[in-house]
Amino acid sequence: MTITKITKASSPNHDARTLPVSLLVLHYTGMDTGAAAVQRLCDPAARVSAHYVVGEDGHVLALVDEGRRAWHAGRSCWRGIHDVNSASIGIEIVNGGHDHGLPAYPDVQMRALIALCRGILDRHPIAARDIVGHSDIAPERKQDPGEHFDWHRLARAGIGLWPQQAPAAPAQASLAEDLARIGYCPGADRGSVITAFQRRYLPDAITGSACPRTRALAHSLAAMAASP
Ligand SMILES: [Zn+2]
Repeated sequence: MTITKITKASSPNHDARTLPVSLLVLHYTGMDTGAAAVQRLCDPAARVSAHYVVGEDGHVLALVDEGRRAWHAGRSCWRGIHDVNSASIGIEIVNGGHDHGLPAYPDVQMRALIALCRGILDRHPIAARDIVGHSDIAPERKQDPGEHFDWHRLARAGIGLWPQQAPAAPAQASLAEDLARIGYCPGADRGSVITAFQRRYLPDAITGSACPRTRALAHSLAAMAASP
């Protein structure tokens, strides 16, 4: 079992929740260094924050109390919830992201993240289908945590859903309906939502258009999401 060291720090960027916690949102920091990211997440002028930051070395910083509403999701939506900040715990994973060559997530960082997530899931009633990336809840604006993030590993550790490899979706299946049942907001641009789905579940085939594999995986995942 991984023992994760959590250091308390403090961000002033939070306010009161207006919804119970039902979502877990994962991000990458997308900045040059973890130190720069933490500085920004604690800067009152930046007006952004997250509950936790997971360093590349596996060190975890707690910036905002879980009872408070941290400011990480921005304009976003999941399963009809638009004030995602009020309903979620937000974790920033230190990683340069798309602007810095999509670096790999080190194993020690992934192990610390998994331990942190499991603790959060012990404390809050968050369904597996409601563990999401920033790109899932804001597909037109966000790409994080990116296609190098190993969602399958998280699912094997009991964090989030992973679709079964289905041969094909039935002819009558609707990809739009399946994506909505998974949780993606129906109002978002279709190509952006498909891209977000592929970034997470088909990272070797991100095209933004519906292919048979995308349809099959979405149909499988929609069925899993319907019976949490
Ligand atoms: Zn983000």
